This record gives sequence, C-alpha cells and structure tokens, in this order.
Amino acid sequence: MSYTGPDFDPPPRRRSRRGPLTVALAALVCGGLLGWGVYAAAGGTDDDAAGAGAEGSPSAAPRTPSPTASSPAASPSAGDEGSPASRAPSASAPAAAGPLKGKVVVIDPGHNPANFEHTAEINRQVDVGTHRKECDTTGTSTDDGYAEAEFTLDVAHRMRTVLEKQGATVKLTQDGDRPFGPCVDERARIGNAAKADAVVSIHADGSGAGNRGFHVILPGEVNAGEADTRAIVEPSRELGERIAGAFVRVTGTAPSNYIGGGTGLVTRKDLGGLNLSTVPKVFVECGNMRDSKDAALLSSGAWRQKAARGISEGIVSFLRG
Ligand code: ZN
Repeated sequence: MSYTGPDFDPPPRRRSRRGPLTVALAALVCGGLLGWGVYAAAGGTDDDAAGAGAEGSPSAAPRTPSPTASSPAASPSAGDEGSPASRAPSASAPAAAGPLKGKVVVIDPGHNPANFEHTAEINRQVDVGTHRKECDTTGTSTDDGYAEAEFTLDVAHRMRTVLEKQGATVKLTQDGDRPFGPCVDERARIGNAAKADAVVSIHADGSGAGNRGFHVILPGEVNAGEADTRAIVEPSRELGERIAGAFVRVTGTAPSNYIGGGTGLVTRKDLGGLNLSTVPKVFVECGNMRDSKDAALLSSGAWRQKAARGISEGIVSFLRG
C-alpha cells in the first residue's frame, strides 16, 4: 500500500508542464479520432490473438531506439515502485458521494502470473462466437523478466483505488487468486454478469524493439454464434476515445508508432474478450514490453500510477458523459 506518495496525487503543476509536444500529441489524437474509420488491424500484437507467438518475436534482440522525446513522463527511479496494492479485495465501500456512485467498472487484468505453469489448461480451445481459440495466453515480458501479467495486476490495483475513490463499484476478473486464466470467454462473461457500465482489459504488448507507445483496442462489429457486438461498438468506441485522450494527457506518452495510424485506436474482431462482451469494453495495450524504452516506463511504479490514472480518468469521463 504505497500509493499515498507524490506519485498518487500528482502535483498541480502537471497542467502547466504540458509542453508543445504533449499538446501536439493530444491534437494529433483528437484529429485522428475525428477522421478515424474502422481500422481492421492485422492481428498478432495481442495476447488474445490466435496463434502461438502472438505477443511478438521473443527472439528480437534489445536495441536502442532513436530518441523521440515522446516521454516527458517520469523516468524510472528507485523508490517509486511502490509495492503493488494488496491483492486482497479492497474494502468495497466506495465513497458515498462520489460522482461514480452506482456505476460498476470491471477491470480485466490480462493473463495470469501462473499461466506459465498451466500451459495445457490455457491452450484449451474455447468458443468465442466467431471462432475457437485458446482459453488464455501467458502474455509477454520485458527483457529483464518483468511479466506482463504482473504489470496488468499492478495497474488494475492502482485503477481500483482511483475509481473507488470516485464512488464506483469495481470488480476484477482475476486478482492473482486463480491457478490460471480465467479463459477469455469467462473474462467477457464476468463483465456481462456484473452489468458493468464499462470494462477495460489491461495489457502490454509484445511487439518488436523500436515499436513504441500505447493503443486502445475497440470491438469491431461481429454477429456470429454467441458473439454480437452490434450494441456495444459505438459506446465502446466512445470509451476508447476518452481513454486514449486521457492516457496521452496524463502519462505524456505518445500513441503507438506501429499500429493505429497515430491515433492510438485500433479495431479488432478476433478477440474473444471483446466479441463476447455485451457491455462497453476496450483493451488497453499500455506500451511495448519488448522495446527497452517502453519497458523502462512500464517497469516504473511512478509511470504505472500515471497509466492507471489516465485510464481511470478516461473511464470517469465516459461514465459522466
Ligand atoms: Zn496481453
């Protein structure tokens, strides 16, 4: 429990720190959003994607990308890591008068730290409406061995703290309390059963070195088997746009330079976690663990706090209208 430090309550100077670059990035995102159409991304950058090695090339050698000055966010530093919040369910006693009182947010921390020990179980095929695919995947990691599944849980805990302070009822699809998974179909059904007002699945990508930045994955329109996203495509896009904008603003990091055409937004129809959702839902790929500069950010507790706050502020914006 160490979110009470300066990282938790950002200094008020944050707004004044927005340099021309950040503003330009925000403008880029907004402009991109305006002209953004359905973008059928090539698969292969997400964990939930079909096929082995979907998290990118594990053989990619680390390299040093050219400086982009795209990260005014704090660089990693000792002492800001903060141990992840307790995994025990938080006392779900949201602030009585918070603006999100009555709202339900489900956070889906991608993968599971123990998936590595249950490959047979997570390789089981499940029906996601449009096709069958693996129950779950192990996720990626940084070259230093920081696992995506640890990252997603940490960000989820930080988000839970932020959102509960706003009065929301927050549920996690897993809290390191399962031997593996849950499977992607169950992850979707947890959000549906909770009648969530918003669901966000947290991930970090496993793309090639030099590929940097975050992107938000939106559900495409599918109607097959149990999958029917027609009612959630538009609200999910709204949710995703709010999150992308807040993520740029709060973290100061740029949208992906390798997917989404600079908008930070990508639409996919192959993800069971989205296809089976009946409530507004997006995935957030917070950065690329296989790039050394992104990995440095993802490994920083101070940066993760910003990421959690950026995503949460997007959710709050979406829910408040
Ligand atoms: Zn993932």
